[in-house]
Amino acid sequence: MTALPLGSTIGILGDGQLGRMLAGAAARLGFDVVILGPGDHSPASRVAAHAIQADYTDKDALAEFSVRSDLVTLEFENVPVSALNMLLDMGATVHPGPKSLEICQDRHFEKSFARETGVPTADYWVVDSVDDLRAAMRELQGGGILKTRRDGYDGHGQRRLKSGDDPITVYGDLDGVPCILEAMVPFAGEVSVVLARSATGEIKAYDPAENVHTNGILHTSRVPARFDEAVLKSAQSAATQLITALGHVGVLACEFFVLEDGGLLLNEMAPRVHNSGHWTPEACLTGQFEQHIRAIAGWPLGPTDRLFDAEMENLLGEDIYKPLAPGDMVTLYGKREARAGRKMGHVVRKT
Ligand code: AMP
Repeated sequence: MTALPLGSTIGILGDGQLGRMLAGAAARLGFDVVILGPGDHSPASRVAAHAIQADYTDKDALAEFSVRSDLVTLEFENVPVSALNMLLDMGATVHPGPKSLEICQDRHFEKSFARETGVPTADYWVVDSVDDLRAAMRELQGGGILKTRRDGYDGHGQRRLKSGDDPITVYGDLDGVPCILEAMVPFAGEVSVVLARSATGEIKAYDPAENVHTNGILHTSRVPARFDEAVLKSAQSAATQLITALGHVGVLACEFFVLEDGGLLLNEMAPRVHNSGHWTPEACLTGQFEQHIRAIAGWPLGPTDRLFDAEMENLLGEDIYKPLAPGDMVTLYGKREARAGRKMGHVVRKT
């Protein structure tokens, strides 16, 4: 691919805070952005040169979006793959491509892909019926979590199993949709590797961040993570294996469980910029949003060197009204309503 010319327009599928921050980074590099997403006055649309409010599979909207965009990307992994295929049929260049979405949208595909690539995951069983669940629960040793294969986020679409749970009730709690039953992992911690692969094949990873989740939602990411250098290096090399095997172009986030013995299990991947990389714009020479734009544009990737130890804390709901401390570097997403548990912004601190 030839590098995206200066002053081009980048189309972003998705209209949330990630699109807003991508648009800011694109603007710094001289690109305009057009947003396509369903939201009314969404965080991304209000900072874009143009926004189209429509469903992702609206053919007329996609046609207009395609004409306005020199290159298309995404900030939301649950954009239907059919939307990407329609854009490709219309002649658009789309990074990342459909393969990344197909795999990352489905927990079973994601885990089997990781295993085929040589990256281990937790034990899991595919559950398409109450009988499947009953059989899987018989094989499961210790605790487990039933997760919907698709559309789960921030702890939604998950149900932890307790001993004596009735499979009919448990499966009903997740509306009987296709699921996986995953063995509980007694992890020593969680790390994520955010990395980018450019349209030219160049790869650069950030330092792995150590993540703490509360109620299934990311609470803090810290760098450096407090694990041995060897563990962190193997997380980076597993993530490099995954991004290469996916043929992914853009930023990818790989979340791992770290076991007591230093072993790693892939939990999930996100084919986009990621919440656990929100410390990078402040703490690194090149932030994840700029890196994503560079990667899809076929520009040289920027250096990922970290300038200081850092902590990123999410601001949920009314947290945005808490007073800031000196040195807090805050980003707010411009959401109109501070609902409980909703990601409203984040703070990065030098530690
Ligand atoms: P997920 O949406 O799958 O990333 O899950 C959100 C969070 O729930 C993870 O980051 C973990 O903190 C926890 N979790 C998910 N799956 C497991 C598991 N199999 N064992 C232990 N904790 C888990």
